[in-house]
Amino acid sequence: MIFDKLLRIGFPALCASLTLLLGVNAYSLYSAQADYVHKDQLERSVLNDTLRFNTTALEKLIARYSALKSPEDAAEAGKTYEALLNAFETWPSDAYSEIVGPSDYIQDKLVHIVRTSNRVKPFLDTLNDQTSVSNALIILQGIGSSLQQINQMVTQEAAKQMSAARKSFHFHQIVQDVLVVVFLLVSLGWIWFSNKRSQVLQGQAEATREQTRLLEHRLDHDSVTGLVNSRVFAEIVRSAHDTLAPDQTLSILNIDLESRLPAINKFSLVTEEAILASTADLLRHAVDRMEGVNCLARSGGKGFLLMTVSDEEVGLTASVVANRIHDIFLRPVPTALGSFLISPAIGYADSTTVDRDATDIIRNADLAVGNAVSYSRRRVVTYQPAMRAEMERRTIVENALARAIEANECLPHFQPQFNLMTGRIFGVEALARWYHSELGWISPSEFIPIAERNGDIVSLGWKILETSCSEVQLLPSDLSLSVNLSVAQILSDDVVAMLDECLGRTGLPASRLKLEVTETTLMSDLRRIQTTLVELRSLGIGISLDDFGVGYSALSYLTDFDWDEIKIDRSFATKAVKDKKIRDILKMVLGIAETMGSQVLIEGIETVEQRDVLVDIGCTIGQGYLFGGPMAIDDITTLFFSDHSKSTLAGL
Ligand code: C2E
Ligand code: CA
Ligand code: CA
Repeated sequence: MIFDKLLRIGFPALCASLTLLLGVNAYSLYSAQADYVHKDQLERSVLNDTLRFNTTALEKLIARYSALKSPEDAAEAGKTYEALLNAFETWPSDAYSEIVGPSDYIQDKLVHIVRTSNRVKPFLDTLNDQTSVSNALIILQGIGSSLQQINQMVTQEAAKQMSAARKSFHFHQIVQDVLVVVFLLVSLGWIWFSNKRSQVLQGQAEATREQTRLLEHRLDHDSVTGLVNSRVFAEIVRSAHDTLAPDQTLSILNIDLESRLPAINKFSLVTEEAILASTADLLRHAVDRMEGVNCLARSGGKGFLLMTVSDEEVGLTASVVANRIHDIFLRPVPTALGSFLISPAIGYADSTTVDRDATDIIRNADLAVGNAVSYSRRRVVTYQPAMRAEMERRTIVENALARAIEANECLPHFQPQFNLMTGRIFGVEALARWYHSELGWISPSEFIPIAERNGDIVSLGWKILETSCSEVQLLPSDLSLSVNLSVAQILSDDVVAMLDECLGRTGLPASRLKLEVTETTLMSDLRRIQTTLVELRSLGIGISLDDFGVGYSALSYLTDFDWDEIKIDRSFATKAVKDKKIRDILKMVLGIAETMGSQVLIEGIETVEQRDVLVDIGCTIGQGYLFGGPMAIDDITTLFFSDHSKSTLAGL
């Protein structure tokens, strides 16, 4: 800022002023010099004049004549006298006049001198007379003395003026020198500052360029991993697709950390970023070692995108790359904050799945990973064209669900639960059913996961609970009612109050109600859920462990809580027939349950053979299509109160 002002205003103004001063002073110097030269000449003229206006020569001639009596001296004296008189006619000279100006004193003196000198003439004519000589000399001495006075006065004045002119000349010379030096210094300063300023400007321009580069880099790259972002990735994919040779295949892999690492959402941002950065390093390292054209990028969410181009000779197929990447995560990912076991979902698609638009490959890989996350037990999923239709259907279902819950389109059906020995129904499980006016019956396996993801499960769950608590009272009063409780419901703060209110409102005794929670529900927050279950139990409600034996089964879940009931997943009913190991496991679970005081219910019994095998092992109660699938309340009421059905059921 100061630099700028100095350069724009300060230096130019200073230089202009100095130039002006130099000009003015140069003029003054020139005048002073002229004056000095003139005064010098004047002084010389004055000195010349003092020689002319002098009576000494005449006096000497007269004195010599008086001594030697030489007629030449007399003649010479006469001539000198005439010359003196002539000189007086031009006296005071120009030089004198200029030095002293019009002076009355000199005028008076002149008149007196001229008059006096006229008196000398007679004595000169009679020089052979000693008296004349004396008189002439006396008069001449008087004149000489007057002349001397004037001469002296003028000479002194001339010297004084000459000295003053010289001083003035020297003064202006010094001023000029000083001005020139200052001008030079200011000019040098100007040049120096301009130079500095241009250096500063260059530095600023460089810094701006650097900032622009940084900004561009930031716009194109993810700040956590340093990888290009999804926008740039899409451009790279497009241009790679445009130049793809006929024998080449372009594949996109979508590696999703978020969904398969539920805990990642619980981590602090710092931990999450550390995991992402380390994962990026691992992937970068792996990709570097792969043949072919590869590009790794950060996806919009908590994941990565990878493009590979391969042909028969160069590069790896997408499925090989996907499996290699999957294998990387079999070990924990080391980060500065510790090691984390993460098992990303990987979806991939290739250029054979699209017609023209390369970004469709990215979308297809997206669909595939979405499928791996939500609907598949496999971690690596390849894109299938059906996925698009499935996704569209999911979108329709998702969009219609909230309104359907509100409009009571989602209602419970009831599946009977049997004593395997007596064939007697002792309870029913409420299972949600949704009839959509256009899509028809929609399975809970389809809409429950959607409701769980978007949060609709809470309102749906309470609605099913309330309706089933009311409707089950149409059935014999000794029947129990099992209702599934979702993780979102159980984690809501008011779960105990809601259930208490529901029982109060519907009038169903707490002892008739059983709530089913799955192992996966327990996994989300075991301690908190245990506490809630204890509170619910204290209301008199029974608690069931649902789907035991599926997925993450751990025997510890059996002992983590005083379950009233353990429901064995239906896969066991199928496998138990052929697999002794399964039968042994079932026996062991039955043993543990007995020790814990819990009853064991086997789900999904479909055949008589299954039932018999299970009864042999020691199973006493069950549920399954063999006895009856889920039914609307009217159907199950009819079933109960029709003798025919009773005998059909009991007959099994
Ligand atoms: P679940 O709790 O394990 O329910 C049993 C499922 O097995 C039901 O499927 C039932 O129709 C089916 N099933 C019963 N017997 C047999 C059989 O012999 N063989 C075979 N293959 N299947 C049999 P559904 O009704 O489709 O429900 C699926 C899942 O949806 C349920 O599994 C439950 O986890 C969930 N769900 C259903 N209704 C609700 C609800 O109101 N709330 C919550 N949170 N989840 C629900
Ligand atoms: Ca259940
Ligand atoms: Ca179950």
